[in-house]
Amino acid sequence: QAKEGGKNRYQLFDPESDRLTQHRLEQLKRLELALEQQEFELFYQPKVDLRDGQVVGAEALIRWRHPQRGLVAPGEFLPQLQGSWLEPTVGDWVIEAALRQLAEWVRAGQPLPVSVNISANHLMRAGFVDRLTQALARHPEVPPSLLELEVLETAAISDLDQAIAVMQRCMPLGVGFSLDDFGTGYSSLTYLRKLPAQTLKIDQSFVRDMLADAGDLSIVQGVIQLAAAFHRQVIAEGVETMAHGAALLRLGCWLAQGYGIARPMPATEWAGWWEHWRAAETWRGL
Ligand code: C2E
Ligand code: MG
Ligand code: MG
Ligand code: MG
Repeated sequence: QAKEGGKNRYQLFDPESDRLTQHRLEQLKRLELALEQQEFELFYQPKVDLRDGQVVGAEALIRWRHPQRGLVAPGEFLPQLQGSWLEPTVGDWVIEAALRQLAEWVRAGQPLPVSVNISANHLMRAGFVDRLTQALARHPEVPPSLLELEVLETAAISDLDQAIAVMQRCMPLGVGFSLDDFGTGYSSLTYLRKLPAQTLKIDQSFVRDMLADAGDLSIVQGVIQLAAAFHRQVIAEGVETMAHGAALLRLGCWLAQGYGIARPMPATEWAGWWEHWRAAETWRGL
């Protein structure tokens, strides 16, 4: 801590930062307990093809069902996990939970690609590929091609060589990769060419403002063209309205995810939602 603080630079013991460290340790212990007590849960958000309304997949998003606080969003506890010993453990739990759900959907005759978010720390941690291999082996009924790993663009390029190496070692397993929040990092075209990710996910901040802000529209357009040039799939996140969907279709991006289609939901609600969606054909005829 000593090197961070400007005016406290020469202080060897800083009671304030010691208190912070203590606080963080307590938070981490509580999160460890949450894992043990099975308070974490995955919600699933549909990804659809705007051209015909087909559901093409789901993104798994972690939630913390806190006994007192209720449902806690990842933005409130992932930052506490970040960089800690617990981060890869929770990350492994996410993969396992998603595979368990996938196995259930496969057994029910409703196979569906599911993506999970993988933090940089988790991906780059020694043993990641081995543990992923073991997790897949525990669920032999799940075709590995149904599992996709979403890695933040910024994470992938922060340690590019290592990210590429790990991703390449995962490829033979059959899992896919996508670059999440694409457009927020600084991927050079060289990086993009090297990264073995099949899909670019346009960051929701650009999608949200694309109808009002010409700059954001250009970025969305740019990412779509980039994806085409590099033979990658492209999907837009944060699609909140029909107007966004229509604009994306015109620009040549037909895969979408967002509140305008459906909010992330518990797995127990998925089958009902899907049935209702198919019956309603909400996006058809856009
Ligand atoms: P992300 O991977 O970019 O996921 C998209 C986030 O946007 C989700 O927030 C989702 O609920 C939200 N979202 C979806 N559609 C819309 C929309 O139309 N409008 C708006 N305003 N938001 C929308 P969530 O679930 O709170 O997750 C936030 C971030 O936390 C995720 O961003 C991801 O980076 C991270 N995260 C979530 N689950 C996990 C996980 O299991 N592991 C890791 N490592 N990170 C996770
Ligand atoms: Mg994601
Ligand atoms: Mg994203
Ligand atoms: Mg995000």
